Amino acid sequence: MSAEPLAIARRRLGRVNRIVVKVGSGVIAGKGRLRAKVIEDLAYDVTVLRHQKIDVVMVVSGAVAAGFEPLGLELPPSAVVERQAAASVGQHRLMAMFSRAFIKQRVHVAQLLMTADDIENRRRFLSARHTMQMLLSRGVVPIINENDALSDDETKVGDNDHLAALVTNLTSAQLLVILSRVRGLYRAGTDEVITRVEVDSSVEDHISSELSETGVGGMGAKVSAARLAGQGGVPTIIAEGGQPGMLQRILAGDEVGTLFTPQDTKLSARKKWIAIRSRSMGVIRVDAGAAEALRAGGASLLPAGIKTVQGAFEMGDRVDVQDESGQPLAVGLVSYRSDEIRRLQGRARTEYQDVLGYEYVKEIMHRDDMVLVE
Ligand code: GLU
Repeated sequence: MSAEPLAIARRRLGRVNRIVVKVGSGVIAGKGRLRAKVIEDLAYDVTVLRHQKIDVVMVVSGAVAAGFEPLGLELPPSAVVERQAAASVGQHRLMAMFSRAFIKQRVHVAQLLMTADDIENRRRFLSARHTMQMLLSRGVVPIINENDALSDDETKVGDNDHLAALVTNLTSAQLLVILSRVRGLYRAGTDEVITRVEVDSSVEDHISSELSETGVGGMGAKVSAARLAGQGGVPTIIAEGGQPGMLQRILAGDEVGTLFTPQDTKLSARKKWIAIRSRSMGVIRVDAGAAEALRAGGASLLPAGIKTVQGAFEMGDRVDVQDESGQPLAVGLVSYRSDEIRRLQGRARTEYQDVLGYEYVKEIMHRDDMVLVE
Protein backbone atom coordinates (compact mmCIF):
# COMPACT_ATOMS: atom_id res chain seq x y z
CA MET A 1 0.00 0.00 0.00
CA SER A 2 2.78 2.39 0.97
CA ALA A 3 4.10 2.73 -2.55
CA GLU A 4 0.75 3.70 -3.97
CA PRO A 5 0.86 7.22 -5.37
CA LEU A 6 -1.36 9.75 -3.64
CA ALA A 7 -3.36 10.50 -6.78
CA ILE A 8 -4.32 6.85 -7.09
CA ALA A 9 -5.21 6.54 -3.42
CA ARG A 10 -7.39 9.63 -3.82
CA ARG A 11 -9.07 8.42 -6.98
CA ARG A 12 -9.88 5.11 -5.34
CA LEU A 13 -12.18 7.04 -3.00
CA GLY A 14 -14.60 7.52 -5.87
CA ARG A 15 -15.31 3.80 -5.93
CA VAL A 16 -16.82 3.44 -2.48
CA ASN A 17 -20.47 2.59 -2.06
CA ARG A 18 -20.92 3.30 1.63
CA ILE A 19 -19.38 6.08 3.70
CA VAL A 20 -19.65 7.42 7.22
CA VAL A 21 -19.64 11.19 7.52
CA LYS A 22 -18.90 12.59 10.94
CA VAL A 23 -19.74 16.24 11.48
CA GLY A 24 -18.31 18.01 14.49
CA SER A 25 -20.12 20.39 16.84
CA GLY A 26 -17.85 23.21 15.78
CA VAL A 27 -19.06 22.87 12.19
CA ILE A 28 -22.78 22.96 12.80
CA ALA A 29 -23.05 25.04 15.95
CA GLY A 30 -21.43 28.12 17.36
CA LYS A 31 -22.13 30.10 20.51
CA GLY A 32 -25.09 27.89 21.35
CA ARG A 33 -26.79 28.25 17.96
CA LEU A 34 -27.18 25.67 15.21
CA ARG A 35 -26.12 26.85 11.78
CA ALA A 36 -29.10 26.21 9.51
CA LYS A 37 -27.26 27.07 6.30
CA VAL A 38 -24.44 24.62 6.97
CA ILE A 39 -26.94 21.88 7.80
CA GLU A 40 -28.90 22.55 4.60
CA ASP A 41 -25.75 22.44 2.51
CA LEU A 42 -24.80 19.13 4.12
CA ALA A 43 -28.24 17.67 3.44
CA TYR A 44 -27.87 18.70 -0.18
CA ASP A 45 -24.41 17.17 -0.51
CA VAL A 46 -25.46 13.92 1.14
CA THR A 47 -28.48 13.73 -1.19
CA VAL A 48 -26.21 14.11 -4.22
CA LEU A 49 -24.22 11.10 -2.99
CA ARG A 50 -27.41 9.13 -2.47
CA HIS A 51 -28.31 9.81 -6.09
CA GLN A 52 -24.92 8.36 -7.01
CA LYS A 53 -25.98 5.20 -5.15
CA ILE A 54 -23.62 5.81 -2.27
CA ASP A 55 -25.01 4.94 1.16
CA VAL A 56 -24.30 7.65 3.70
CA VAL A 57 -24.39 7.16 7.44
CA MET A 58 -23.97 10.36 9.44
CA VAL A 59 -22.52 10.76 12.92
CA VAL A 60 -23.53 14.21 14.07
CA SER A 61 -22.36 16.03 17.19
CA GLY A 62 -23.89 19.16 18.58
CA ALA A 63 -26.45 18.04 21.14
CA VAL A 64 -24.61 19.68 24.01
CA ALA A 65 -23.69 22.70 21.88
CA ALA A 66 -27.33 23.24 20.91
CA GLY A 67 -28.77 22.60 24.35
CA PHE A 68 -26.83 24.52 26.96
CA GLU A 69 -28.34 27.94 26.30
CA PRO A 70 -31.95 26.98 27.02
CA LEU A 71 -30.71 25.66 30.37
CA GLY A 72 -29.56 29.17 31.22
CA LEU A 73 -25.89 28.35 30.90
CA GLU A 74 -23.47 30.66 29.16
CA LEU A 75 -20.92 28.10 28.08
CA PRO A 76 -21.03 24.39 27.26
CA PRO A 77 -20.95 22.73 30.69
CA SER A 78 -18.34 20.29 31.87
CA ALA A 79 -20.25 18.74 34.80
CA VAL A 80 -21.67 15.35 33.79
CA VAL A 81 -25.28 15.98 34.79
CA GLU A 82 -25.35 19.38 33.13
CA ARG A 83 -23.97 17.86 29.95
CA GLN A 84 -26.60 15.14 30.03
CA ALA A 85 -29.36 17.70 30.51
CA ALA A 86 -28.00 19.97 27.79
CA ALA A 87 -27.79 17.03 25.39
CA SER A 88 -31.40 16.07 26.01
CA VAL A 89 -32.48 19.63 25.18
CA GLY A 90 -30.16 19.91 22.21
CA GLN A 91 -30.54 16.49 20.57
CA HIS A 92 -34.09 16.95 19.35
CA ARG A 93 -33.33 20.50 18.20
CA LEU A 94 -30.44 19.11 16.22
CA MET A 95 -32.58 16.39 14.67
CA ALA A 96 -35.42 18.79 13.91
CA MET A 97 -33.06 20.93 11.91
CA PHE A 98 -31.53 17.99 10.05
CA SER A 99 -34.93 16.51 9.39
CA ARG A 100 -36.19 19.81 7.91
CA ALA A 101 -33.10 20.21 5.77
CA PHE A 102 -33.37 16.67 4.38
CA ILE A 103 -37.10 16.85 3.75
CA LYS A 104 -36.38 19.73 1.36
CA GLN A 105 -34.33 17.17 -0.59
CA ARG A 106 -37.13 14.59 -0.23
CA VAL A 107 -34.94 12.39 1.94
CA HIS A 108 -35.96 10.92 5.28
CA VAL A 109 -33.62 10.71 8.23
CA ALA A 110 -33.54 8.35 11.21
CA GLN A 111 -32.08 8.97 14.64
CA LEU A 112 -29.98 6.38 16.43
CA LEU A 113 -28.54 7.18 19.83
CA MET A 114 -25.84 4.75 20.86
CA THR A 115 -23.55 4.01 23.78
CA ALA A 116 -20.43 1.89 24.08
CA ASP A 117 -22.57 -1.09 25.06
CA ASP A 118 -24.30 -1.13 21.71
CA ILE A 119 -20.96 -1.84 20.09
CA GLU A 120 -19.45 -4.14 22.69
CA ASN A 121 -22.43 -6.39 23.18
CA ARG A 122 -22.66 -8.80 20.25
CA ARG A 123 -26.40 -8.96 20.25
CA ARG A 124 -26.88 -5.20 20.27
CA PHE A 125 -24.08 -4.78 17.75
CA LEU A 126 -25.87 -7.08 15.34
CA SER A 127 -29.21 -5.50 16.06
CA ALA A 128 -27.82 -2.02 15.32
CA ARG A 129 -26.31 -3.35 12.12
CA HIS A 130 -29.56 -4.83 10.93
CA THR A 131 -31.46 -1.65 11.68
CA MET A 132 -28.88 0.36 9.78
CA GLN A 133 -28.94 -2.00 6.80
CA MET A 134 -32.70 -1.77 6.60
CA LEU A 135 -32.70 2.03 6.77
CA LEU A 136 -30.06 2.29 4.07
CA SER A 137 -31.85 -0.16 1.82
CA ARG A 138 -34.91 2.08 2.05
CA GLY A 139 -32.97 5.23 1.20
CA VAL A 140 -33.17 6.68 4.71
CA VAL A 141 -30.12 8.49 6.10
CA PRO A 142 -29.26 7.27 9.60
CA ILE A 143 -28.04 10.06 11.86
CA ILE A 144 -26.17 8.81 14.89
CA ASN A 145 -25.05 10.46 18.06
CA GLU A 146 -23.96 9.16 21.39
CA ASN A 147 -26.85 8.79 23.83
CA ASP A 148 -25.47 11.72 25.82
CA ALA A 149 -28.58 12.30 27.90
CA LEU A 150 -28.36 8.94 29.64
CA SER A 151 -24.76 7.84 29.42
CA ASP A 152 -22.11 8.93 31.87
CA ASP A 153 -18.35 8.83 31.64
CA GLU A 154 -18.34 5.12 32.48
CA THR A 155 -20.68 4.02 29.72
CA LYS A 156 -19.64 6.48 27.05
CA VAL A 157 -17.65 6.05 23.91
CA GLY A 158 -16.69 9.63 24.78
CA ASP A 159 -16.06 11.41 21.54
CA ASN A 160 -17.89 11.20 18.26
CA ASP A 161 -14.71 10.73 16.22
CA HIS A 162 -14.22 7.42 17.99
CA LEU A 163 -17.93 6.62 17.69
CA ALA A 164 -17.75 7.32 13.94
CA ALA A 165 -14.85 4.88 13.55
CA LEU A 166 -16.85 2.22 15.39
CA VAL A 167 -19.86 2.95 13.20
CA THR A 168 -17.67 2.63 10.11
CA ASN A 169 -16.85 -0.85 11.23
CA LEU A 170 -20.41 -1.62 12.31
CA THR A 171 -21.85 -0.67 8.93
CA SER A 172 -18.96 -2.08 6.84
CA ALA A 173 -18.46 1.36 5.29
CA GLN A 174 -15.42 1.82 3.04
CA LEU A 175 -14.55 5.40 3.94
CA LEU A 176 -14.74 7.60 7.02
CA VAL A 177 -14.99 11.35 6.45
CA ILE A 178 -14.47 13.58 9.47
CA LEU A 179 -15.71 17.09 8.80
CA SER A 180 -14.16 19.53 11.17
CA ARG A 181 -13.48 23.24 11.59
CA VAL A 182 -9.90 22.77 10.43
CA ARG A 183 -8.75 21.95 6.90
CA GLY A 184 -6.95 18.79 7.97
CA LEU A 185 -3.87 17.87 9.97
CA TYR A 186 -1.44 20.79 9.83
CA ARG A 187 2.30 20.34 9.64
CA ALA A 188 3.55 21.37 13.10
CA GLY A 189 3.85 25.12 13.47
CA THR A 190 2.54 25.87 9.96
CA ASP A 191 -0.82 26.21 8.23
CA GLU A 192 0.15 23.65 5.61
CA VAL A 193 -2.17 20.66 5.49
CA ILE A 194 -0.45 17.26 5.37
CA THR A 195 -2.15 15.66 2.39
CA ARG A 196 -1.53 12.05 3.28
CA VAL A 197 -0.62 10.02 6.33
CA GLU A 198 -0.08 6.31 6.53
CA VAL A 199 -2.23 5.27 9.37
CA ASP A 200 0.47 3.45 11.33
CA SER A 201 3.08 6.20 10.99
CA SER A 202 3.77 8.56 13.85
CA VAL A 203 2.23 12.01 13.49
CA GLU A 204 2.17 12.89 17.16
CA ASP A 205 4.43 15.92 16.61
CA HIS A 206 1.81 17.51 14.40
CA ILE A 207 -1.10 17.11 16.77
CA SER A 208 -1.94 20.23 18.74
CA SER A 209 -3.60 19.68 22.08
CA GLU A 210 -6.46 22.07 21.42
CA LEU A 211 -9.94 20.70 22.18
CA SER A 212 -13.24 21.78 20.67
CA GLU A 213 -15.56 24.34 22.27
CA THR A 214 -17.47 21.55 23.97
CA GLY A 215 -14.30 20.14 25.46
CA VAL A 216 -14.01 16.83 23.62
CA GLY A 217 -12.51 15.76 20.33
CA GLY A 218 -9.61 17.77 18.99
CA MET A 219 -7.03 16.53 16.50
CA GLY A 220 -5.76 13.76 18.79
CA ALA A 221 -9.19 12.13 18.83
CA LYS A 222 -9.49 12.43 15.04
CA VAL A 223 -6.14 10.81 14.40
CA SER A 224 -6.91 7.98 16.77
CA ALA A 225 -10.28 7.48 15.06
CA ALA A 226 -8.48 7.33 11.72
CA ARG A 227 -6.16 4.69 13.17
CA LEU A 228 -9.08 2.66 14.42
CA ALA A 229 -10.82 2.80 11.04
CA GLY A 230 -7.50 1.96 9.41
CA GLN A 231 -7.16 -1.20 11.45
CA GLY A 232 -10.27 -2.38 9.64
CA GLY A 233 -8.69 -1.51 6.29
CA VAL A 234 -10.72 1.69 5.84
CA PRO A 235 -9.24 5.08 4.87
CA THR A 236 -10.22 8.29 6.66
CA ILE A 237 -10.25 11.87 5.46
CA ILE A 238 -10.18 14.80 7.83
CA ALA A 239 -11.43 17.86 5.97
CA GLU A 240 -13.09 21.18 6.52
CA GLY A 241 -16.84 21.06 7.06
CA GLY A 242 -19.06 24.05 6.40
CA GLN A 243 -17.83 24.10 2.78
CA PRO A 244 -20.58 23.28 0.30
CA GLY A 245 -19.57 20.49 -2.04
CA MET A 246 -16.80 19.14 0.20
CA LEU A 247 -18.11 15.56 0.09
CA GLN A 248 -18.25 15.67 -3.70
CA ARG A 249 -14.73 16.97 -3.89
CA ILE A 250 -13.46 14.21 -1.62
CA LEU A 251 -15.11 11.50 -3.69
CA ALA A 252 -13.88 13.10 -6.90
CA GLY A 253 -10.34 12.56 -5.63
CA ASP A 254 -9.54 16.28 -5.18
CA GLU A 255 -6.62 16.99 -2.95
CA VAL A 256 -8.54 18.29 0.04
CA GLY A 257 -7.97 17.53 3.71
CA THR A 258 -5.68 14.86 5.10
CA LEU A 259 -6.09 11.33 3.82
CA PHE A 260 -5.15 8.53 6.22
CA THR A 261 -4.44 5.38 4.26
CA PRO A 262 -4.70 2.05 6.04
CA GLN A 263 -2.34 -0.85 6.18
CA ASP A 264 -3.55 -3.52 3.90
CA THR A 265 -5.52 -5.84 6.14
CA LYS A 266 -7.01 -9.04 4.88
CA LEU A 267 -9.42 -9.41 7.72
CA SER A 268 -11.58 -6.46 8.69
CA ALA A 269 -11.55 -5.34 12.29
CA ARG A 270 -15.08 -6.53 12.78
CA LYS A 271 -14.20 -9.97 11.56
CA LYS A 272 -11.22 -10.04 13.87
CA TRP A 273 -13.54 -9.10 16.65
CA ILE A 274 -15.79 -12.02 15.74
CA ALA A 275 -12.83 -14.36 15.57
CA ILE A 276 -11.05 -13.27 18.72
CA ARG A 277 -13.35 -11.60 21.14
CA SER A 278 -15.99 -14.23 21.60
CA ARG A 279 -16.33 -17.94 22.13
CA SER A 280 -18.63 -20.23 20.23
CA MET A 281 -21.93 -21.17 21.83
CA GLY A 282 -22.92 -23.90 19.40
CA VAL A 283 -22.36 -25.69 16.13
CA ILE A 284 -24.30 -25.68 12.89
CA ARG A 285 -23.59 -28.46 10.40
CA VAL A 286 -24.37 -27.90 6.76
CA ASP A 287 -24.76 -30.10 3.66
CA ALA A 288 -22.23 -30.38 0.85
CA GLY A 289 -23.87 -27.68 -1.27
CA ALA A 290 -23.81 -25.10 1.51
CA ALA A 291 -20.25 -26.10 2.47
CA GLU A 292 -19.15 -25.52 -1.09
CA ALA A 293 -20.88 -22.14 -1.26
CA LEU A 294 -19.23 -21.03 2.00
CA ARG A 295 -15.79 -22.31 1.05
CA ALA A 296 -15.92 -20.57 -2.29
CA GLY A 297 -16.53 -17.38 -0.29
CA GLY A 298 -19.12 -14.70 -0.70
CA ALA A 299 -22.13 -16.75 0.39
CA SER A 300 -24.20 -16.26 3.50
CA LEU A 301 -25.56 -19.20 5.48
CA LEU A 302 -29.19 -19.84 4.57
CA PRO A 303 -31.63 -22.26 6.22
CA ALA A 304 -31.86 -24.65 3.26
CA GLY A 305 -28.35 -26.09 3.67
CA ILE A 306 -28.51 -26.63 7.43
CA LYS A 307 -28.49 -30.26 8.61
CA THR A 308 -28.13 -30.05 12.40
CA VAL A 309 -27.96 -27.44 15.14
CA GLN A 310 -26.11 -28.19 18.39
CA GLY A 311 -26.26 -26.13 21.54
CA ALA A 312 -28.54 -23.42 22.88
CA PHE A 313 -27.64 -19.95 21.71
CA GLU A 314 -29.10 -16.52 21.22
CA MET A 315 -29.17 -14.20 18.27
CA GLY A 316 -25.80 -12.46 18.06
CA ASP A 317 -23.90 -15.35 19.63
CA ARG A 318 -20.87 -16.77 17.95
CA VAL A 319 -21.43 -20.20 16.44
CA ASP A 320 -19.14 -22.64 14.58
CA VAL A 321 -20.14 -23.82 11.14
CA GLN A 322 -18.99 -27.30 10.08
CA ASP A 323 -19.53 -29.55 7.11
CA GLU A 324 -21.42 -32.81 7.49
CA SER A 325 -18.35 -34.71 8.60
CA GLY A 326 -17.50 -32.13 11.27
CA GLN A 327 -14.73 -30.31 9.38
CA PRO A 328 -14.68 -26.65 10.49
CA LEU A 329 -15.79 -24.20 7.80
CA ALA A 330 -16.39 -20.89 9.50
CA VAL A 331 -17.23 -19.02 12.69
CA GLY A 332 -19.70 -16.19 12.80
CA LEU A 333 -22.57 -14.43 14.49
CA VAL A 334 -26.05 -15.86 14.04
CA SER A 335 -29.09 -13.74 13.32
CA TYR A 336 -31.56 -16.16 14.91
CA ARG A 337 -31.77 -18.22 18.11
CA SER A 338 -30.87 -21.93 18.12
CA ASP A 339 -34.49 -23.09 18.53
CA GLU A 340 -35.57 -20.88 15.64
CA ILE A 341 -32.79 -22.24 13.42
CA ARG A 342 -33.84 -25.82 14.24
CA ARG A 343 -37.31 -25.02 13.00
CA LEU A 344 -35.94 -23.33 9.90
CA GLN A 345 -33.34 -25.89 8.91
CA GLY A 346 -33.81 -27.40 5.48
CA ARG A 347 -36.46 -24.82 4.55
CA ALA A 348 -36.34 -22.26 1.76
CA ARG A 349 -35.44 -18.63 2.44
CA THR A 350 -38.99 -17.69 1.53
CA GLU A 351 -40.45 -19.69 4.39
CA TYR A 352 -39.45 -17.67 7.46
CA GLN A 353 -42.88 -16.17 7.82
CA ASP A 354 -44.61 -19.56 7.56
CA VAL A 355 -42.29 -21.31 9.97
CA LEU A 356 -41.68 -18.64 12.61
CA GLY A 357 -44.60 -16.30 12.10
CA TYR A 358 -42.14 -13.48 11.41
CA GLU A 359 -39.07 -12.74 9.40
CA TYR A 360 -36.16 -10.78 10.74
CA VAL A 361 -33.45 -11.08 8.08
CA LYS A 362 -33.01 -13.60 5.25
CA GLU A 363 -29.67 -15.00 6.40
CA ILE A 364 -29.04 -17.31 9.34
CA MET A 365 -25.47 -15.98 9.32
CA HIS A 366 -24.60 -13.10 7.02
CA ARG A 367 -21.29 -13.40 5.17
CA ASP A 368 -20.18 -10.08 6.66
CA ASP A 369 -20.58 -11.60 10.12
CA MET A 370 -18.58 -14.71 9.24
CA VAL A 371 -14.91 -15.62 9.18
CA LEU A 372 -13.93 -18.61 7.07
CA VAL A 373 -11.62 -21.13 8.68
CA GLU A 374 -8.56 -21.55 6.47
N1 GLU B 1 -22.06 13.68 21.48
C1 GLU B 1 -21.66 15.03 21.78
C2 GLU B 1 -22.73 16.03 21.39
O1 GLU B 1 -23.56 15.76 20.57
C3 GLU B 1 -20.43 15.43 21.06
C4 GLU B 1 -19.26 14.58 21.27
C5 GLU B 1 -18.13 15.03 20.33
O2 GLU B 1 -18.21 16.15 19.82
O3 GLU B 1 -17.23 14.28 20.11
O4 GLU B 1 -22.73 17.11 21.92
